[in-house]
Amino acid sequence: MKIDLRSDTVTKPTKAMLEFMMQAQVGDDVFGEDPTVKKLEQQMAKMFGKEKALFFPSGTMANQTAIKLHTKPGDQIICDQYAHVYNYESGGVAFNSGATCKLLNGNRGMFTAKQVEEAINPKDYWYAPSSLVTIENTTNKGGGACWDYNELLKIKTVCTNNNLGFHLDGARLWNALVANNETTRQYGEIFDTISVCLSKGLGCPVGSVLVGNEAIMQNALRLRKVFGGNMRQVGYLAAAGLYAIENNIERLVEDHKKAKDIGEVLSKLSGIKKVEAIETNIVIFELNDDVNEHEFVKKLAHKNINIISMGSNKLRMVTHLDYTDVMHNKLLIELKKINFYKN
Ligand SMILES: *Cc1c(COP(=O)(O)O)cnc(C)c1O
Repeated sequence: MKIDLRSDTVTKPTKAMLEFMMQAQVGDDVFGEDPTVKKLEQQMAKMFGKEKALFFPSGTMANQTAIKLHTKPGDQIICDQYAHVYNYESGGVAFNSGATCKLLNGNRGMFTAKQVEEAINPKDYWYAPSSLVTIENTTNKGGGACWDYNELLKIKTVCTNNNLGFHLDGARLWNALVANNETTRQYGEIFDTISVCLSKGLGCPVGSVLVGNEAIMQNALRLRKVFGGNMRQVGYLAAAGLYAIENNIERLVEDHKKAKDIGEVLSKLSGIKKVEAIETNIVIFELNDDVNEHEFVKKLAHKNINIISMGSNKLRMVTHLDYTDVMHNKLLIELKKINFYKN
């Protein structure tokens, strides 16, 4: 039995999801003729109370399209120093949009309305025009932390007053909604554009969706084409999305509970310095200075447990749909048995 906690992207579609996918009606989506893609897009738009939704092959492409929709070359976007769009999208903000990032020093990937206000460049020709604020919920590098909705409302006011777009990278928004009893509508109300992922916690093989109102989304279809993201009989994949939003959202509480259990066990182990607060399905912990991170990861791998290193003696585990109760019990037992200081 292999226990893979490197990411919630490692899930494989279940038999039920595959069967649902097989029955999808499809057509050429580049001609706008795939009924299942249309159904997913309409359903997603409705969930968020937005006029439009567009299906994408990846979260990166959905985010990059959103950034391009909100900016002109030379503009500046405001985001946290931990932001996925800045750290893990291959420099796409510069490559695709010709924009720069003003990085905020937040707490676990989250900043305040006051920090945003202070980061806006003066409207003077010396400065790059600030045009967009982008946030992430939950935060990835921040360890699955969730934003305080009231702070988001305050940031929205700053955006409105300063004519800035407001984008949500919601790759793991589902986790935040479930953890805090929030609704998609609430997020639709304050963000201009939202990207959500279907292939992380929700267990689809592929797919993200970008939602927004007509005015901002007008050019999204063309940009997706420019980025090479047009797809043909892709209703099979959209069907996986329809299945996932019906069946796999509420169950995220189980992933969150398992992550908490793991954190509790880790926090009692001798070789561990610190476990970050666990709000959703991500566990980030730091080893003692005298424990070698690579040796520790190897030791776990030897027991068929895979996790990833985040550098600086920090490690990450992510719970997900394919991490079963049996695996969970085995993991907790194995963790308690680890000798950090001996090979
Ligand atoms: C995974 C992730 C993305 C990108 O998704 P891909 O589908 O892998 O391109 C974007 N933002 C965050 C916060 C993520 O965790």
